[in-house]
Amino acid sequence: MHSTTKLLHSIPVDPLTGAVSIPIYQTSTFVQEAPGINKGFDYSRTDNPTRAVLESIAAQLEEGSTGIAFGSGMAAIDAVLKMLKTGDEVVAIDDIYGGAYRLFEQVYKKFGVKVIYVDASQPENVYRAISSRTKLIWIETPINPTLKISDIEAIAKIAKANGCLLCVDNTFASPALQKPLSLGADLVVHSATKYLGGHCDLIAGLVVTKDKELGEKVKFFQNACGAILGPLDSWLLIRGIETLPLRIRQHCRSAQFIAEFLELHPAVDRVLYPGLKTHPGHSIAKKQAKGFGGIVSFSLKEDTEQAAISFVSATNLFQLAESLGGMKSLVSHPATMTHKTIPPVRRRASGVANSLIRLSVGLEEPEDLVADLEEAFSKLEVKNSRPHAKTAYV
Ligand SMILES: *Cc1c(COP(=O)(O)O)cnc(C)c1O
Repeated sequence: MHSTTKLLHSIPVDPLTGAVSIPIYQTSTFVQEAPGINKGFDYSRTDNPTRAVLESIAAQLEEGSTGIAFGSGMAAIDAVLKMLKTGDEVVAIDDIYGGAYRLFEQVYKKFGVKVIYVDASQPENVYRAISSRTKLIWIETPINPTLKISDIEAIAKIAKANGCLLCVDNTFASPALQKPLSLGADLVVHSATKYLGGHCDLIAGLVVTKDKELGEKVKFFQNACGAILGPLDSWLLIRGIETLPLRIRQHCRSAQFIAEFLELHPAVDRVLYPGLKTHPGHSIAKKQAKGFGGIVSFSLKEDTEQAAISFVSATNLFQLAESLGGMKSLVSHPATMTHKTIPPVRRRASGVANSLIRLSVGLEEPEDLVADLEEAFSKLEVKNSRPHAKTAYV
């Protein structure tokens, strides 16, 4: 049976009433027959029936044993880091999500956790950074906004050989395309705010572990620290996940179409999309994922912040906002938005050009999206313009 069919039929009907949509169990506590004798639930921080359904779907989606839901992606990341203790070291990918960087540097550092950042697109860099204190390797692939690819299987082998856990932030690919646990990772985290939710209407996070024991450890922190996802948001997330495979298929098709359009445009310098054969991570992305995702980044020939700002202000369908993965297309300018706090020299060294523009390609008709980009380009003064081929969407 195909995974999409399996996914839809794994969402149970309510055992109590037969409701096809799992009810939102909006309750804090549960009546007990006698102390400790209950129907499996005693207090909603510890466990809630709506959240429990979400957690089991998440575990199935990522092919893991345990799913654990949190109030945000950051809370999910935090729950994994709570397994560390003073003196432990982490080897993390250098272009790590800004919020994770802040958590490492401004929260965990003061507790004596040291993080070494490396370019994980070359697995030997990960290997070289490991010491006897390394407990955790942390990667994202594809990474934001340069869409660099890291080889999950190769890094998982390095982790195993050195007794470290590997955690993959799978937000960008989503489990519809990439299943890190099957490639050897121990944990997956998600900002479910993005593709899993898919409708820009909630903030949520997930952790999925490969083995049960590790799952129990993370679940302990979920209950002990309390950053849980509420029943209503759990329900919204289940509803988002039901259409995940379908949405991702269209995000990928449209992103590929747009990336190919951009590649031919005279005002564009570089297009960063793993689905293009020119992308350095293309073959690894092809090996480890079923598709290349819905995010496309590109830089302009006129590599100035001003040119990029004019462009992102000129699009209409691509709305200017941070975040990604929703049904409506978004555009952002990392150098002045998400990556503003990173010093320009370091930013450029990691491939974020002054004019780099990131698109989160939504579910509008791709030809309309290309027309929107065309119009924004026409507002830029394009020097040396040459005619470019128009491709029809298929
Ligand atoms: C957004 C994001 C996060 C943080 O998730 P929130 O739900 O915003 O807390 C973590 N990792 C990646 C890759 C993200 O894009």
